[in-house]
Amino acid sequence: MSGYVELGQKYVMNSYNRFPIVVTYGEDVYVYDDKGKKYLDMCAGIAVNALGYSHPALSAALKEQVDKLLHISNLYYIPQQIEAAKLLVENSLFDKVFFCNSGAEANEAALKLARKYGKNINEKKTKVITMNHSFHGRTYGALSATGQTKYQKNFMPVMEGFSYAEYNNIDSFKELIDQDTCAVLIEVIQGEGGIIPGNKEYLQEVQKICHAYDALLMIDEVQTGIGRTGTLFAFENFDLQPDVITLAKALGSGVPIGAMLCTSKADVFVPADHASTFGGNPLATTAAKVVLEELIQKDLLSHVKEVGAYLEGELVKLKESFDVITDVRGMGLMQGIELKVAPKEVVSKCIEKGMLVVGAGENVVRFVPPLVINKEQIDECISILKESLKEL
Ligand SMILES: *Cc1c(COP(=O)(O)O)cnc(C)c1O
Repeated sequence: MSGYVELGQKYVMNSYNRFPIVVTYGEDVYVYDDKGKKYLDMCAGIAVNALGYSHPALSAALKEQVDKLLHISNLYYIPQQIEAAKLLVENSLFDKVFFCNSGAEANEAALKLARKYGKNINEKKTKVITMNHSFHGRTYGALSATGQTKYQKNFMPVMEGFSYAEYNNIDSFKELIDQDTCAVLIEVIQGEGGIIPGNKEYLQEVQKICHAYDALLMIDEVQTGIGRTGTLFAFENFDLQPDVITLAKALGSGVPIGAMLCTSKADVFVPADHASTFGGNPLATTAAKVVLEELIQKDLLSHVKEVGAYLEGELVKLKESFDVITDVRGMGLMQGIELKVAPKEVVSKCIEKGMLVVGAGENVVRFVPPLVINKEQIDECISILKESLKEL
């Protein structure tokens, strides 16, 4: 098994800054590298592995499905896809689901939906407002929506029709919106931007203004959705009624899948408007169905609320003893500590001591563990973090 670091550098495109470890196995909230070293995983594949590793119900359902049917075209009805969609609709305010394979793809679908919604009202209603420090993905539409020049600069020109408002600043938003705006795409907690929660009054005001201009309120829940904040979707914590949301990351707990949900008002796609060969295939939607059942029927959501509050409390305590921590922010099991040092220093120390964490923004270390993590494991996280901060 050795030599994969060198082989990876030789054969795989250099589009990631990788840490030199090779993970080969996982169980519960722990992963193991090829040398047998154990890591507590507070990264979870970047907020993906909601049910942790080797989850019995997920593994069993997937194994059964592998033997039955991996893939069939959307030219036919797919039971697993319909059941996953039914769970999403019956547990939300949305009416319809479109499945795809990633967060960027879910946002592409939302952007196309928004343009069509706008054009149905007036040919010029095509503009989309997004936020500074947002992140919506790497494909051209999603990249154009992403309000961070560092992601766009080498790939200009991006798509036209986007403008970027200052997050949590209602005046900045009011200056940009007009009758030609078809949608607003926004995160209720900016994830990649540095775990920056939206202000409740601000988000509600954005929603009100969207209604006044007949622009769709589209919430990117790719990172915040699927139980991460203790509710199925994070917007529920802010008493919002979005027209569209996008999902991916945790939806398949490791099996690639994305989704766009919309209310009947925004349900404007007709056959041939949008499609995806793999979108919602039997294997991926089997995973989504298990994840949703665990969250909704097995009460994993209240577990997240409880352990999320515990993690936040422990991080706040840690801030009191370490000057290097300047802020603790987040909700549920999506927490970040803002630091005076580069996050990479802390991430590397933690890896050395057997814990995976991930940076966010310029100066934040983020904690997005599997949703099944327990309090003892959070204590272990805090103790490794403490040791790492001491050595800075
Ligand atoms: C990760 C992320 C995306 C992109 O998802 P991919 O599956 O990598 O395309 C989009 N939006 C948000 C908020 C994300 O966190």
